[in-house]
Amino acid sequence: MNNLGKKVTIIGGGVAGLSAGIYSAMNGFDTQIIEMHSIAGGQCTAWDRKNYRFDYCLHWLVGTSKGAFHDIWKETNVINDETEIIDHEIHSQLFDKDRNEFIIYSNIDRWEKYLIEIAPEDVKTIQRMCKDMRKSALLEPFALPPELRSPLDYIRILPKMLPILNLVRKFARLTCIEYFDKLGFKSEKIKSALYAMYGERNFSALAFIFMLGFFNQKNAGYIKGGSLPLAQRMVDKFEKLGGEILYKKRVEKIIVENNQAKGVVLTDGTQILSDYVISAADGSSTIFKMLEGKYISKKVDFAYKNWELFTPLVQVSFGINKIIKSKSPIIINTTKDLKIGMTVLKYGYSFMNYSYDTTMAPEGKTTIVMRYESPWKLWEHLEGEDYKNEKKQIEKDAIQFLEMEYPGIAEFIEVTDVATPKTDVRYTGVKDGAYEGFLPARENMMKSLDMTLPKLKNFYMAGQWLFPGGGLPPSAQTGKWVVQLMCKKEKKMFILTK
Ligand SMILES: Cc1cc2nc3c(=O)[nH]c(=O)nc-3n(C[C@H](O)[C@H](O)[C@H](O)COP(=O)(O)OP(=O)(O)OC[C@H]3O[C@@H](n4cnc5c(N)ncnc54)[C@H](O)[C@@H]3O)c2cc1C
Repeated sequence: MNNLGKKVTIIGGGVAGLSAGIYSAMNGFDTQIIEMHSIAGGQCTAWDRKNYRFDYCLHWLVGTSKGAFHDIWKETNVINDETEIIDHEIHSQLFDKDRNEFIIYSNIDRWEKYLIEIAPEDVKTIQRMCKDMRKSALLEPFALPPELRSPLDYIRILPKMLPILNLVRKFARLTCIEYFDKLGFKSEKIKSALYAMYGERNFSALAFIFMLGFFNQKNAGYIKGGSLPLAQRMVDKFEKLGGEILYKKRVEKIIVENNQAKGVVLTDGTQILSDYVISAADGSSTIFKMLEGKYISKKVDFAYKNWELFTPLVQVSFGINKIIKSKSPIIINTTKDLKIGMTVLKYGYSFMNYSYDTTMAPEGKTTIVMRYESPWKLWEHLEGEDYKNEKKQIEKDAIQFLEMEYPGIAEFIEVTDVATPKTDVRYTGVKDGAYEGFLPARENMMKSLDMTLPKLKNFYMAGQWLFPGGGLPPSAQTGKWVVQLMCKKEKKMFILTK
């Protein structure tokens, strides 16, 4: 499909790049994605070891049942008639160091009942918190990018959004801990569980409230099969529309002439010329390396210097030759200051038991994944033998933790796989292993970065680095939005095709 006679080069075949590619091809641009890895998907990926699948991303996808994100998932083939969506009853199960259990239910009425049962002294406070979460259900993501919204678009949603604006006014500048403090729980059990989850992190209270609001509406489900087939469905759609992906090719530089993007140069020296360039690769590499820091707004400069990044993760995946069921898809152990390898666990660790998804392990077997945060500074300079030894130590320590969670399990372990922050950086180029970009903190929770850079024509950015908190929905949404902007520039109506 090349009816516009305009060529678009997209850097990066993660979910943002694939989304941009799909909408671009739909709208008649001759579209090519350049992806440095041998597969597409970026952070939204998984890998297979001895018939076990180890998923690196998907737990919840905002937009599985309705709204602007849902439209995007359908348009990009992430959700189709065959996809099976799983809505878990329990969001997560927490254990403290004495194995006291605390549950977070996906349904707010259910959670409220549970919380009142364990802390009747806090009934009013619990009801207030749950009311905030129910209100957040009114949040409706905009379908159009800010540049294309009319005053009428804002007026139309205003009555619906008033309660949300009130939430934003009250909580946007509070961290989770400040919010919990403000609520003033008396129950030690509730306080210690909620505080342990978020610790001293500068994690926005609004992000917490909205997250549970989405679960409550059954609009943040899990898609059976997980991340890899999700990305593959997008690839299929893109290729069906006539798009092309160049794999194992890394962009080094964006060609700019007279402040207009003209194409890209690959690390092997190949030049690819085009009418538009969209970067859906890591934000920092795009702005400071591929464009040599020549096109920076004050906002971008401030964000990249000051906004905190997500702390990277270590993922230890286990293939277990036995069926191990779990009450909850995520089990969080909040014990502080344990050590795995060289990392002291500031916020404990979690296990993801995938027994609810039969595609993740052969029949009669189970995939369990362990994750913990490990600061980038520990990994940055770790190389060679030291790196290999660290991975070995992690494997040994992680098995002990798994054994504590599931006594007797060690003898059934068939496969163990350790992925570190370095693994993520190597395969996706993500800055410092910050797998969702900027942390949604009190300073930036309601902020975003622009899809264009000052004075640079025919260039757009898409992906998780534009919205603090990252995640699949804003990545895919910005992919759509940049194409809407390109269509406007071409004075062409934006269309959707099958
Ligand atoms: C462990 C984990 C769990 C997560 N869980 C969830 C979840 O449950 N729900 C959710 O919504 N989100 C989740 N996320 C976040 C989500 O995966 C990311 O926010 C999203 O995938 C980012 O997409 P992206 O396309 O913007 O960037 P990326 O996925 O980082 O894609 C960038 C792409 O660009 C390529 N690239 C980079 N540089 C170059 C270059 N120079 N040349 C060519 N190609 C290049 C990379 O190889 C990559 O394919 C999770 C992430 C992780 C790691």
